[in-house]
Amino acid sequence: MGIIFGPINSRRFGKSLGVDLSPNVKQCNFDCLYCELKGAKVVDNQSSIVSVSEILDEIKKALASHKDIDVLTLTANGEPTLYPYLNELIDGINKIKGSVKTLILTNSSTINKPEIQKALAKLDSVKLSLDCATDRCFKKLDRASKSIDLESIKKGILEFKKHFMGDLLIEILFVKGINDNSEEVSKLNEFLLKLKPTRVDIGTIDRPPAYDIKPISYDRLHELSLEFDKSLNIAIATKQPNQKAKFDYSKEEILKTLSLRPLTKEDIDTLFNEASIKRLKELEAEGKIKHELKGGIEFYIVKDI
Ligand code: SF4
Repeated sequence: MGIIFGPINSRRFGKSLGVDLSPNVKQCNFDCLYCELKGAKVVDNQSSIVSVSEILDEIKKALASHKDIDVLTLTANGEPTLYPYLNELIDGINKIKGSVKTLILTNSSTINKPEIQKALAKLDSVKLSLDCATDRCFKKLDRASKSIDLESIKKGILEFKKHFMGDLLIEILFVKGINDNSEEVSKLNEFLLKLKPTRVDIGTIDRPPAYDIKPISYDRLHELSLEFDKSLNIAIATKQPNQKAKFDYSKEEILKTLSLRPLTKEDIDTLFNEASIKRLKELEAEGKIKHELKGGIEFYIVKDI
């Protein structure tokens, strides 16, 4: 399998080139029920290892043939931070990437390790998965290796945030009947209020999962989004369509809705009918609503007047 994949056009990050740090076989310390790859025995270390020079050569070639890349995304068939030469690789990437941004997608399992924090701090954006705030949920959904515990992950994320200068993004994937309940959301909310990440992306299963589990609906995702504190930038990220008809909001309702939770452009396209979008534009022209970019996504926010 190839080390480089894409480019992929991502609404959130622009034109992204993927870099697979485990291209030959799945190597992961989690066995998430929702994994898009086949379920596999968890491992704490990589045994199939690609050399740093091979990865850098592939990146150089790909950047030479795709001149318009916005971001290099480090990921893996499994967990990218299990790559044993991550620090050296990131140093090498930073030397050759020019103005291209860097991002890693990690399951957060190793974020409590100082050497991983040191390596990830050299990236522009770090996206950490955190599906559960309670141990019971974590064990049921993410099924981590025995060497990993949720409390160390949470502690590690908080420590990392203290010295990371880039965009810290959190991803929560909701699965029907497992973490889609108010108790779990309230605990996640409590943790996120301490963390104050740049943005929180919430989603559900969009591709066939490794095990027999079910997604939640767009409407339920929207309901759950309202249970988080409004100071958190919650973005709904799913391919699940809104099953209901779009809403017709008056200007007052738009202001009320946005004061409960800032909405992204995607939310607005999903929830608002044409007349509501026209009213939203009028509110913008009247200076009652502003836009703010959070980790590459535009949020509509009610202005404090
Ligand atoms: S962390 Fe990612 S790769 Fe590993 S099992 Fe979970 S979803 Fe799959």
